Amino acid sequence: MLNQDIKSGLFGSIGENMVAFELAKRNWYVYRPYFDTRIDFIAQKFVCKKCFSDWESKNIIICSNKKCENHTKDLNQKDYVKTRKCLSCGYIFNKYATEHYCPKCRNKMTSDLVKKSGQRNYQFKCNNCGHSFTSQTRSCVKCGSNENIEYPVCSICENEIIPLESKCQNPNCNSKEYVSIIRTIQVKSSHEEEGGKIGFNFKMQDLIDDERHFLVVYSRTFEDYKEKHNFWVMSVDEFKKEMVSPTPSSLIYQNARLHPPTTKSTSFFNEIEYNKCIDQLKSARKRKDIEKIVELEANIQRVDVFAKLNKYITGDF
Ligand SMILES: [Zn+2]
Ligand SMILES: [Zn+2]
Ligand SMILES: [Zn+2]
Ligand SMILES: [Zn+2]
Repeated sequence: MLNQDIKSGLFGSIGENMVAFELAKRNWYVYRPYFDTRIDFIAQKFVCKKCFSDWESKNIIICSNKKCENHTKDLNQKDYVKTRKCLSCGYIFNKYATEHYCPKCRNKMTSDLVKKSGQRNYQFKCNNCGHSFTSQTRSCVKCGSNENIEYPVCSICENEIIPLESKCQNPNCNSKEYVSIIRTIQVKSSHEEEGGKIGFNFKMQDLIDDERHFLVVYSRTFEDYKEKHNFWVMSVDEFKKEMVSPTPSSLIYQNARLHPPTTKSTSFFNEIEYNKCIDQLKSARKRKDIEKIVELEANIQRVDVFAKLNKYITGDF
């Protein structure tokens, strides 16, 4: 079964989109040049300046309590409670609570629902010291101060919710500095030819000679009628070693036809191994198993051929 069902011009853009998607999965921002410049797209990523791990660029909020499971989770609204904190005495008041202990004498207070519809309002009264307030009391219920601030707390442990400071995805790194790195990508979409061979057109003059430039050969093949997407990712040096050095002079022609090596190239993407690592990494992050996270990150660097784009290259910063 061949790719004859897709016109070759259309197929080129499918290859580019497939490669862009693989990069997006790995936190790259992908841009297309305005004019045809031999570069098919530009990939940009934020990485930690200290350890070169991926950098989380969005704002993440976490529970400040290191022992709480919400400390390592990207929290959303259901994970925290809106409360108010008094700037004068430090008392934290949760207006949604239906039970309160007296802020003055710690006695359990009685509560009466005074308004059922709309904003529910309870009247709280201490039978020990006579202190009272309602759910809607705006001033501090302990000292009466009007200096109060919004204060989100964790719904599990009631500690403060804070923005994450270091956004390095390496759990052993506390760097607060990041950098942006840029890679240029050239995609060659290849067809399965008669006889099952993969071939793509190549002209030496089109190859950009830069360490930060990468060539990706994308091919769509069939195995037992099952569609398969293949990626072959190389730096310019790797490409020259594998494809150019045997016959450099023949590659100056417009229609030089190249075929990926039939012997296993280390630059072929092994999707199954990669997905296995990613899956294990997800559960290791859930378990907060830092040793395993570090081990799997190292595995991914080895297994994932796209990871070579992540390595420090002279000229990055
Ligand atoms: Zn780092
Ligand atoms: Zn009291
Ligand atoms: Zn107060
Ligand atoms: Zn917590």
